[in-house]
Amino acid sequence: MQVIATIDEMTRFSENLRTRGQTIAFVPTMGYLHAGHLALMAEGKKKAENLVVSIFVNPAQFGPSEDFSTYPRAMEQDLEQCRNIGADAVFTPVSTDIYPKGFQTYVELEKLPHHLCGLSRPVFFKGVATVVTKLFNIVKPNLAVFGEKDYQQLAIIRQLVTDLNFDIEIVGVPIVREPDGLAKSSRNKYLSQQERPHALLLNRCLDTAQKMVEQGETDARKIVDMATGILLSCPDIRVDYVCVCDPVTLDGVDSVRKKALMALAVWLGKTRLIDNRMLVLPDRAK
Ligand code: AMP
Repeated sequence: MQVIATIDEMTRFSENLRTRGQTIAFVPTMGYLHAGHLALMAEGKKKAENLVVSIFVNPAQFGPSEDFSTYPRAMEQDLEQCRNIGADAVFTPVSTDIYPKGFQTYVELEKLPHHLCGLSRPVFFKGVATVVTKLFNIVKPNLAVFGEKDYQQLAIIRQLVTDLNFDIEIVGVPIVREPDGLAKSSRNKYLSQQERPHALLLNRCLDTAQKMVEQGETDARKIVDMATGILLSCPDIRVDYVCVCDPVTLDGVDSVRKKALMALAVWLGKTRLIDNRMLVLPDRAK
C-alpha cells in the first residue's frame, strides 16, 4: 500500500492505473476509521480493481465554533486498517496543498444544503462539495463510495456529479451500527460513559417510526412528535431537527407515501449526533 501525501504523486498514481485500463474505487474520509468506513472500503474493493482511500480533516467544512481542532485523529492506526483491508493507496494531503494561499473557488449547491444539517451548519456542505470536487479531480476514480449515515451528503454528491458531469459512479452503503444500534461515528468517541446510553434514543426513534408506519400511520407530524417526545425525555439532549422528508429533494412531507426519509440530529452534551432511516409503507398501504 502506498501512502501518498502530495497532489502530484496522487494524480500520477491514478493516471498510471487508468492508462493501463485499470479501475479505481475511491473512499474519502476524515480518518479515525471505524467499521462504517471499512464497509465503504470493502464495497469499493468489490467494485473496482484498485482502492484509494483519502484521510483529510477538511477545514473548509467546519464552522468557526465547530470541532475542527479537536476532531479525533489516529493516522498510524488508520493506515494499519487500510493496509489490512487491502487498500492500494491512501492519500493524506495537508490543508495548505488543498487550500493554498489565494484559493478562492468553492462549489455550492442551490437547494439541497438548505435542509436538515445545512440549516445549523451553514458552511458545511460548501466545504464538503468543494473538497470532494477537488479530490475527484486529483484521484480520478471510476467510482466513489459514501455512507448513507450522512444521507444529505450522499444526496449532495449525487447531485454534484450529475450537475458537473463527473464520469464517476456514486455508490451508497447502508449505515453500520454498534451491536446496540448506535450508528458508528468518529464523534462517538466524545460521548461520556453517562451520555453513551442516551445516544441510543436516536435509533429508538427511528425504530418506533418504522413500526408506526408499518401499523398504517402516515401522518408525518405524528411521527415527528413521537420522536421529539422520546428525545426530549432526556434532559441532556438538545434537538437540532427531526424531519420526515422526500428522499430525493429532502423537502419536508406531510405524509408518508410509499417511502420517506426520517432524519434526526441532536446535541448530546457537546457531541452532535445524526441518524436516519428510510420509512417504508407496507405494500397493503401503498
Ligand atoms: P467521515 O470520515 O465521517 O467524513 O466519513 C467518511 C465516509 O464514511 C462518509 O461517506 C460517511 O458517510 C461514511 N460513514 C461514516 N460513518 C458511517 C457508518 N456508521 N456507516 C456507514 N458509513 C459511514
